[in-house]
Amino acid sequence: MVTVIGLGPMGQAMVRKFVAAGYPTTVWNRTAGRADGLGAAVAPSVADALAANRLVVLSLTDYQAMYDVLGGAELDGKVIVNLSSDTPARTRAAAKWLADRGAELIAGGVMVPAPLVGTEHAYIFYSGRADVYAVHSELLGHLGKAHYLGADHALAQLYYQAQLDIFLTSLSSYLHASALLKAAGVSAADFASFAVDNFNSLSMYVADAARNIDSGEHPGDLANVTMMGATADHIVGASRELGVDPRLPEAVQAQYERAVKDGHGKSSWTSLIEGLT
Ligand code: NDP
Repeated sequence: MVTVIGLGPMGQAMVRKFVAAGYPTTVWNRTAGRADGLGAAVAPSVADALAANRLVVLSLTDYQAMYDVLGGAELDGKVIVNLSSDTPARTRAAAKWLADRGAELIAGGVMVPAPLVGTEHAYIFYSGRADVYAVHSELLGHLGKAHYLGADHALAQLYYQAQLDIFLTSLSSYLHASALLKAAGVSAADFASFAVDNFNSLSMYVADAARNIDSGEHPGDLANVTMMGATADHIVGASRELGVDPRLPEAVQAQYERAVKDGHGKSSWTSLIEGLT
């Protein structure tokens, strides 16, 4: 029914879910041994893995790994669901490369870590041909709630990158804040509950911010760019005083400086987006 190629933590988690759901599953991995104990049929070669099923799920480090694994293989008629991370342009190029070989790409981005694959917390962005996706949507649904985004292969990848953009930047800002306090002798444990409050409250800004971004109107009646830019200056200043790498808050500071220069001093912080594109 399904072949899975790539048995890192994510691929292994996917195989476990397919097997548990009763789908005959064939696997192949570059490093032998990672298929042990998964309950799937282990193909001796990529060619055998491809021959076993029309539907092939890839869970590899990036799209280059797809070329490394599939380059030279017979792909005619295959549906390749690539759940590996990469850029939108490389995803579109991969769709063409596969189409030239008679195969269809469904691109996807899994939004949870391996232990949460197939749980109620898991969700996955997909894009590619609607009719091809529809044929396999039930099976793919065992990995997590699916959000099908349309025919443009790059879109699932872009949604994935956008979510990881928020995730990685937030984690780094948390570490920077912790480093500031660490330099002053405060433990991460003492700061933790305040950081949690901060993360929890961030989501309440999103609906209003989205309205501002989409309308291009950024009323700054409660908090404006000039005030928040001064705060950005203070975070950079605190970093320098305490010997903490200032480059992350400097990047934020630069966005506020540009917004002020562009005449948005009295606008909401959401006006910073005008300088980003
Ligand atoms: P890993 O990097 O741990 O595993 C990658 C897999 O790709 C391994 O099976 C590895 O084989 C294979 N691989 C890498 N390069 C090549 C190559 N050149 N030729 C052949 N095989 C190759 O990744 P994960 O399982 O953690 O993640 C897979 C994808 O899912 C990534 O794109 C990641 O960004 C994404 N993702 C990961 C999450 C996570 O929490 N881990 C969460 C959400 C998405 P080998 O075993 O031989 O090294």
